[in-house]
Amino acid sequence: MSIFKDLWWFFKQEKRSYLPGVFLLALVAFLELIPPRIVGLTVDYIAEGNLTSDLIWKLMLILLGTAIIVYILRYLWRIMIFGPSVRLARLLRNNLYEHFTKMSPSFYQRRRVGDLMAHSTNDLQAIQQTAGVGVLTLVDSLMTGGFVLIAMATMISWKLTLICLIPLPIMALATNFYGSLLHKTFHKAQAAFSSLNDKVQESVNGVKVIKTFGQEKEEINEFEKQAEDVVKKNVTVARIDSLFDPTIGLIIGISFFLALAFGSHYVLQGELTIGELISFTTYLGLLIWPMLAFGWLFNIVERGRASYDRVSALLKEEVDIKDVDSPKKEVPTGDIIYNVDTFTYPTEDEALLKDIKFELRQGETLGVVGKTGSGKTTLLKILLREFDGIQGNITIGSRSIHQYSLDALRKAIGYVPQDHFLFSATIADNIAFAVPDASFEDIINAARLANIHDDIIGFTDGYQTMVGERGVSLSGGQKQRLSIARALLMNPEVLILDDSLSAVDAKTEESILLALKENRQGKTTIITSHRLSAIGHAHLILVLDNGNVVQKGTHDELMEEDGWYRDMYHRQQLESLVEHGG
Ligand code: ADP
Repeated sequence: MSIFKDLWWFFKQEKRSYLPGVFLLALVAFLELIPPRIVGLTVDYIAEGNLTSDLIWKLMLILLGTAIIVYILRYLWRIMIFGPSVRLARLLRNNLYEHFTKMSPSFYQRRRVGDLMAHSTNDLQAIQQTAGVGVLTLVDSLMTGGFVLIAMATMISWKLTLICLIPLPIMALATNFYGSLLHKTFHKAQAAFSSLNDKVQESVNGVKVIKTFGQEKEEINEFEKQAEDVVKKNVTVARIDSLFDPTIGLIIGISFFLALAFGSHYVLQGELTIGELISFTTYLGLLIWPMLAFGWLFNIVERGRASYDRVSALLKEEVDIKDVDSPKKEVPTGDIIYNVDTFTYPTEDEALLKDIKFELRQGETLGVVGKTGSGKTTLLKILLREFDGIQGNITIGSRSIHQYSLDALRKAIGYVPQDHFLFSATIADNIAFAVPDASFEDIINAARLANIHDDIIGFTDGYQTMVGERGVSLSGGQKQRLSIARALLMNPEVLILDDSLSAVDAKTEESILLALKENRQGKTTIITSHRLSAIGHAHLILVLDNGNVVQKGTHDELMEEDGWYRDMYHRQQLESLVEHGG
């Protein structure tokens, strides 16, 4: 029940809704004591032979009146207790979403997307149930149970009430036993559901690969296996759940048995009237609901507890890339100086980058080349502070990148990643993603610079064409150029093209690079590429190998040196000649 303590902050916040709700619940529980007593009184009037038609009407009116009032009050408490529970789910959902957007890539490396989806859906639903149905069952079962017991003991017979309570300890034991069993099985069911979520997410994302390799059958089989597992585990939960009701039924049955056996004895002895015995057994029937409700309560609270713990753990997970206290809010500009002794990924033990030291004047272009996996992207990501594990320092305009707020730092940098992502929105919206209030002229201008304008006006709806999952299919090169246009519209202090020209042909690449040169006077550009032609014009070129800078200089300087750069340059020239039939 500790979950109610943990949710206390919310109950307090919503006390204007919960308090009247609980009061109405208590009122209904009290009003429900009336009908059984009326029935008992009627029987006694009949037995004594003094039931008049006038009296019948009065009794019937009381019954009807009670029913109508209970009907209205039940409607009202439902709104008052279930309403806030929906608001709790909304609040937690918003908190989770905000938290997700703050987390760094290493968080998404640690957590499976399927789990995160399950937390945002199933877990929130379980918490909502606790704050709604959970509160209802707790209050209602306590109130109804308490009132009924008091009515039985005070209005009818405390002796008979005590006798009928004898089977109750068995119920406490059963509840405890089923409760802990439920806890274990529910955890397993939830974990299986997470895996299934993960599977669906992966398959939907990778559906093209699955089809190309003709693996649909295998995928379907695998999915069915996992879905079967989810069903099995949920059936186990349901089985334990459904053992509960018959157990309660049995216990109540024993209570009825005791009530009739001892009650009729008291009637014969003249201690009770027949009407009182009838009222008593009807009250006993009213106890079934609170006891059943207690069983449900265990179930609901068990789920709520587990879900709340998981969601809280997620929300408590520290944002690992944070601003320093009172960071500089102005967008950084100026020379970029890398003075990095080592960089180590949070999940790794060994440093990936070693001894990365170079200076880049404002407005210059840096080219970074090297084999796949040599650390080019990593070198850029530490500038963006996607990861923080550097020994040493990187400065922009003579101030460490750590002194700026993350927001300011990232506003200074337009990053076009290798794995570009387009949203399900129009082309114009995708380009204007980082500058939502950009004018249409600016959007067109950025598209022109990125050499995609002509492609866009060729689409039926031009800039209003939808892209993404529900839109037009773009080629790899078109997507790349759209991503470049998106970064160019920001007109960032530092533009980073991370192998972003790989899918465009050499001529388009050349024209984009030329446009960049003309339009980015005074602004810094960093380009990583497999094609050396893309960085030939750079003021500084770094050749990386295994996380080290193995060569450094301008194109002309590197062509003088015997090394990877010159070898690769010659090889690519030869390839290009062959390609063009030379
Ligand atoms: P490049 O851009 O030159 O192809 P990367 O910088 O992408 O190289 O990767 C360099 C190395 O760092 C690779 O061995 C890769 O496996 C590793 N790596 C990349 N990202 C991560 C990460 N998030 N955590 C751990 N290792 C990573």
